[in-house]
Amino acid sequence: MHRNSYHRWIIAVPVTAIAVIASVSAPRASQDAADDEQQVGQQVFDELKAKGEIVSSSPLFDQLKPIADAIARTAQPYYNHPFTFYLVHEQDPNAFATPGGKVYVTDSLLYFVKNTEELAGTLCHEVSHTIHHDSMKLIEKERSIERREIGAAILLGPTRAHVLAIALIGKLRSLGYSREAESAADLTGSDVCAATGDNPWGLVWLFQDFDSADLGKVPQVLSDHPDNQHRVQALQHHFGENPKVFATFSADKKGAKPFVPVKDAVEIFLR
Ligand SMILES: [Zn+2]
Repeated sequence: MHRNSYHRWIIAVPVTAIAVIASVSAPRASQDAADDEQQVGQQVFDELKAKGEIVSSSPLFDQLKPIADAIARTAQPYYNHPFTFYLVHEQDPNAFATPGGKVYVTDSLLYFVKNTEELAGTLCHEVSHTIHHDSMKLIEKERSIERREIGAAILLGPTRAHVLAIALIGKLRSLGYSREAESAADLTGSDVCAATGDNPWGLVWLFQDFDSADLGKVPQVLSDHPDNQHRVQALQHHFGENPKVFATFSADKKGAKPFVPVKDAVEIFLR
């Protein structure tokens, strides 16, 4: 595959990239907390599977897989559960990460992105939310708001993980991450992309596309925040501060690798 030619970046780049990633990563969670993350992630997976949304086989998944696998290999040392990517069938272009290492990409996103770098940038951004434990932090932070809901659920007897998953499923589509968490995921995501050999300018191009896109079609995961310009500037600043990592990548979109999703791809769902 063409991506193999980029493996040299994994050798050439990581020392600097690792330092940058590590500097914005949360301290390693305790084993108990890690187990909570895995359980919450599994509960979300079960819910999505029950809704018949998870694609078990599709030519689209075959197109996504090599891009996702390469990113997972780069990101794996920074997270203590295996990264696994799933394709889900949804109308809105979107991607979201749940605790425990599962990352979901909607089929619509594959038709929205204009090139491989924009897709990779989105995946790297999501993986970074997981590395930063953002969704667990979000649940913990908002738990008091949901105390009544959770209290009611506990009466019915589910596990704590199930309760947290219920809270998370409600959050996935609205993604109330703070501006700081989003920007941190952008920067770590750009490190992950660079170390993988995916041009990290892809995320910048994606933001720029939003400004000209039909708002109804903008991936919700990235569109909740009206400060795309601020995020672009933060990325550009980060690139400028780490020339050893980023100077080799061109800001020129003309050099992007096309991503051409199979039209009307057949999807078989996990049941
Ligand atoms: Zn995000």
